[in-house]
Amino acid sequence: MSKVIVIGAGGVSTVAVKKMAMNADVFTDLTIATRTKSKADRIASEIRHTLPVNTVQVDADNVHELIALFKASKPDLVVNLALPYQDLTIMDACLACGVNYLDTANYEPVDEAKYAYHWQWAYKVRFEQAGLTAILGCGFDPGVTGVFTAYAAKHHFDEVHSLDIVDCNAGDHHHPFATNFNPEINIREITQRGKYYEDGEWKETEPLSVHRPLHYPHIGERESYLLYHEELESLVKHFPTLRRARFWMTFGQEYLTHLQVIQNIGMASIHPIRYKGIEIVPIQFLRAVLPDPGDIGENYTGQTSIGCRIGGIRHGKPLSYYIYNNSDHHTAYLETGAQAVSYTTGVPAMIGAKLFLQGLWQRPGVWNTEEFDPDPFMKELNEQGLPWHEEFGIDLEI
Ligand code: NDP
Repeated sequence: MSKVIVIGAGGVSTVAVKKMAMNADVFTDLTIATRTKSKADRIASEIRHTLPVNTVQVDADNVHELIALFKASKPDLVVNLALPYQDLTIMDACLACGVNYLDTANYEPVDEAKYAYHWQWAYKVRFEQAGLTAILGCGFDPGVTGVFTAYAAKHHFDEVHSLDIVDCNAGDHHHPFATNFNPEINIREITQRGKYYEDGEWKETEPLSVHRPLHYPHIGERESYLLYHEELESLVKHFPTLRRARFWMTFGQEYLTHLQVIQNIGMASIHPIRYKGIEIVPIQFLRAVLPDPGDIGENYTGQTSIGCRIGGIRHGKPLSYYIYNNSDHHTAYLETGAQAVSYTTGVPAMIGAKLFLQGLWQRPGVWNTEEFDPDPFMKELNEQGLPWHEEFGIDLEI
């Protein structure tokens, strides 16, 4: 028997909950708690035949509301699939009620587009002392990228020296402009300054100024842009032999042109303005008029390809290694009603929760995915719809 509360009812939650229902031997008692209860009801109605799900309304910015909810339903685990802004309030409520925690994105203050792990790592001792586990960043990137790196370090390398995480979305959703996960979080991430790690220090670049064509399996060549991404911070810490760590993401020209216009006209701003006596945040208003990422799956075609290109040494000789997963938007939609970006995030969140409930990923403290044994997670990826592939001794292109 297990009792899980999932917070949030967007695209990622839709996939995670449906996958939990497909693993109903482990997930036996499920509640979806979110701001707009009708969205939770919609997900619950689609899986009621396999797993009855409770739904409740909660404001996850409010610790007291969360504590009341956790005290009433006494879950074993809370899976946070709301937004990064809610990470700390949910972790506070977990500590107050003796509940374990898992999320897919690290904390970021609403008024500053600057994510970092130190806020959540600061909870480590309190989770340890309470005998509770917190698993951070258990989506694909971060999440699977940490597991891939840990798996490579465990099985294929004596030392890892370079890591390039490559994230390609070669899909077409047939909208002039749409983001694949929460637009506010997505645009904040992409418009930040670029940053990568090299020779013991962090180096910054102008936003999207460093780019090059890379080849992706079964997709071909795509222009790939250097971005700062949160898992670089934890991976550099946990694999101290890394001399360089970077993150690359593909964007089409049409997407970049829209993004530039959005920025030029001030719609990407996170600072509140007054409009007809009401305070609005331009990027939050923009989110309200853009397509909902959870609803763009129906006509989405093409694939995603996310992986790790790793260089290092094995038995004293240089080794290059590429591990990746390709996911098809339409296949993801047929299975869960959501596109592949929600799918590649929601499935790992479910796997992390499953391994926690099975006792395989359970250790008091606050952990990133690369700090657990990667092997059971890798096995689940193959079984739950995210098969991975390895290539050895190839040109990493970077
Ligand atoms: P959505 O915006 O589609 O869904 C977010 C959900 O959280 C919505 O249901 C929203 O409610 C709810 N929510 C927001 N604020 C609150 C609040 N204060 N209280 C209660 N519920 C709230 O986002 P996605 O599903 O696309 O993304 C979910 C998370 O996954 C994000 O944190 C995102 O950064 C992360 N992510 C991680 C990836 C990875 O690979 N690691 C990749 C992609 C996403 P409402 O419906 O009322 O707005």
